[in-house]
Amino acid sequence: MHYDYLIVGAGLFGATFANLATKRGKRCLVIDKRSHSGGNLYCEEIEGINVHKYGAHIFHTSDKEVWEYVNSIVPFNRYTNSPVAQAPNGKLYNLPFNMNTFYQMWGVKTPEEALAKLEEQRKDALEKMQAEGVSEPRNLEEQALTLIGKDIYEQLIKGYTEKQWGRKCTDLPSFIIKRLPVRLTFDNNYFNDLFQGIPIGGYNRLIEGLLKGVDVKLNTDFFNNRTYWETIADKIVFTGKIDEFYDYRFGKLEYRTVNFDTKILDEANHQGNAVVNYTSADVPYTRVIEHKHFETFGNAVYDNPKTVISEEYSTEWHDGMEPFYPVNDDRNQKVYEQYKELADKEQNVIFGGRLAEYKYYDMAPIIAKVQNFFKTNGK
Ligand code: FAD
Repeated sequence: MHYDYLIVGAGLFGATFANLATKRGKRCLVIDKRSHSGGNLYCEEIEGINVHKYGAHIFHTSDKEVWEYVNSIVPFNRYTNSPVAQAPNGKLYNLPFNMNTFYQMWGVKTPEEALAKLEEQRKDALEKMQAEGVSEPRNLEEQALTLIGKDIYEQLIKGYTEKQWGRKCTDLPSFIIKRLPVRLTFDNNYFNDLFQGIPIGGYNRLIEGLLKGVDVKLNTDFFNNRTYWETIADKIVFTGKIDEFYDYRFGKLEYRTVNFDTKILDEANHQGNAVVNYTSADVPYTRVIEHKHFETFGNAVYDNPKTVISEEYSTEWHDGMEPFYPVNDDRNQKVYEQYKELADKEQNVIFGGRLAEYKYYDMAPIIAKVQNFFKTNGK
């Protein structure tokens, strides 16, 4: 059969594209080199729990159209992301930085007391820089200290950031932390968005719903038979790596990635929360995810006597590893621009998604992008 679109990649971009194109009467074939669809949203069921195999995914958006669209495919639950951090001093703190955090850190009870304490903490760092004759923060450490002060930097930022980047905060550029949002309310909701949640029954339901009625071929790498795939459809929607599409002719784009150590535990409730950050340099992992809390609330977590956790280890990316986070530094950006110039000239290939655009995207903006494509390209 000849198709209107060959969609390379059954991740969120590819699946949404297939869904909206099919609704417009287009014939789509989706191929993916993995043995499952869903890309990084894919969940593996272990002990009756949906395990986020490629990292914890929490859907959040203020875009009503996107929210209504995903909920029309599968209803979402009321999960609200409210991570907790275990600090080097052994104490637990609520995130993001809010009145609960400040109370736990300093015992302050009102926004006024918290502000005064923050000012006092920042003042020390600013005075130190002034004494050294420095006008602008020279690195991430100085930036954090002048934005939020010593206690929060040392307990909640330093160790975590160093593990995440694999470098000392004094060796990291200050622009990584542009702002440190501080909330002077007792509000542990991590996101500021109007809507958030997890698809009821897990992300696979969302992807299956998007791909309903669409031809899908798994375990199929576009590059293993490129000439054939290029003839099968009028247009290609490519969501794989753009540098691979062009045979790495301008060099390889770099990524950072995360390794997961996933364990089944013989206990019903290991940490009482989906996400716990470990901000001490002495703990090798950055976060521990307890997957059942994404979809089970309150004491219902005890209905399943087992639980599944994943320890996350941030690491450099090499060939063969999952390319998670683009490293958008000058070198990579220049390489990407060269590929993009070629991509812009293509008549029959549409590049979309995080790998083809070499850009970190949350899920909601991916959907909005595909919706906008069909708005601007009509049928
Ligand atoms: P992908 O999901 O990567 O899909 C691309 C697909 O293309 C893959 O299935 C791949 O196998 C396939 N493919 C590639 N090359 C080929 C080829 N040659 N032949 C055939 N198939 C190919 N977003 C949020 O909104 N909230 C979160 O909490 C969140 N957490 C995240 C945590 C992590 C660790 C990561 C990495 C991302 C997170 N995201 C989150 C972002 C989210 O994963 C992305 O928005 C989404 O996956 C983008 O979808 P995509 O289709 O562009 O890419």
